[in-house]
Amino acid sequence: MHRNRQTKILATLGPGTSTAARIAKLFDTGVDVFRFNFSHGSHADHRKRHRIVRALEEARGRPIGILADLQGPKLRIGAFENGRIEIKRGQKLRLDLDDKPGTAKRVQLPHPEIFEAMEVGSTLLLDDGRVRLKVLDHDAKSAETEVISGSALSNNKGVNVPDMLLNLAALSDKDRKDLDFAISLGVDWLALSFVQRADDIAEARKLTGGQAHIMAKIEKPSAVEHIDDILEIADGIMVARGDLGVETPVVGVPSLQKALVRTARSMGKTVVVATQMLESMVTSPFPTRAEVSDVATAVYDGADAVMLSAETAVGDFPNEAVATMDGVIEATENDKHYRAILEAEHAVPEATAADAITAAARQVAETIKAAAVVTYTTSGSTTLRAARERPSMPILCLTPKQETSRRLTLSWGVRPVLTDDASNMADMVERACRIALREDLAKPGQRLVITAGVPFGTPGATNILRIAWVDG
Ligand code: PEP
Repeated sequence: MHRNRQTKILATLGPGTSTAARIAKLFDTGVDVFRFNFSHGSHADHRKRHRIVRALEEARGRPIGILADLQGPKLRIGAFENGRIEIKRGQKLRLDLDDKPGTAKRVQLPHPEIFEAMEVGSTLLLDDGRVRLKVLDHDAKSAETEVISGSALSNNKGVNVPDMLLNLAALSDKDRKDLDFAISLGVDWLALSFVQRADDIAEARKLTGGQAHIMAKIEKPSAVEHIDDILEIADGIMVARGDLGVETPVVGVPSLQKALVRTARSMGKTVVVATQMLESMVTSPFPTRAEVSDVATAVYDGADAVMLSAETAVGDFPNEAVATMDGVIEATENDKHYRAILEAEHAVPEATAADAITAAARQVAETIKAAAVVTYTTSGSTTLRAARERPSMPILCLTPKQETSRRLTLSWGVRPVLTDDASNMADMVERACRIALREDLAKPGQRLVITAGVPFGTPGATNILRIAWVDG
């Protein structure tokens, strides 16, 4: 169970990984945070998984994060009389609001806001971009389109509209129900799909009442455009490369990934790189070389976490996928060029006492070759500042708040441990040394660099830095 790496693993649970034994195996192999995908499964399924993860957390004595991923306003066409139609380049296909089963000539598109936002020449991408339609003509309830590419369409395929800004509620009715349910379970992170602008997050933030951190999935061009505002208000982002590669030219996804990771890191926000990282392992026990290289790239870029989707949710080799990811991360972080590549993007401290102290902590820790940086924190913000520094040693996060310890399981380099606040300076040092030893983060004779706030137990007051020797 010992993790010898700084980059975290987020893995999706699904039908293939829903028993206590399978979830425990995934955790022991290397998963740090579990993702519940609300596009699939019932509330009863998610409740059962939640109970299993919390029991496992208790059994292992270690916080485990849970991220609930809401489906978002997913757009879909209706059904066809015969389940599917063949289509040809150049043919016309009419889209309308009528819920009658579709034919070779027309099909329902039950989203009036798309007809509102489209213009002649707009593009609609169906079935993950396999079918491309161009709008020839439209009114408020229908559109005449031409098939630009694609050979078939079947029931309820997804629709992407990259060049339209939709007047769409950020949360569908289903999302609202799922959000309430996820919050009632007590998840740590809530991921929002198809975010278009910062306001979309504000609404979810209000509904969660601060009970979960919020992650904006970046999968639409408008989200890329508004990334600074989104990062300002969200706690983290996910580079959701699946839909991003449909909504934007797929060849641009690597450079967008780099830009998104860089921007999130500079703002000290959590960033996850997701989708198809080890896709071939859904059916094979071995990854392709290209997949291994893709995971390594995200690690070199300094992402907080890398994600597994179908590989662990429905794949035939979920443990092998986690073990592969774990191995690739460790090998990459041990590369002698890794630190230089990671540090090429060093964040500039903000003009606050907390930032100055954590930036100094990293410098001191590196100069004296400390075994770990220790942060006492209530909200987790001091620890996030320490993580933003991407130090070359682990960050031990000591917090009296369970939700803080769980949320920080997703953060780069952070080992969260639940413990009481220090009551005085001697207790602060003794507690940090004892826990660092217990967690195998330091050996007797090594040093720790500790940050905390005096008076002890006051949130937001990080103002001291102390070097401590670990006794035997
Ligand atoms: C994605 O599109 O990359 C993604 C992570 O979202 P989802 O799995 O919900 O489609």
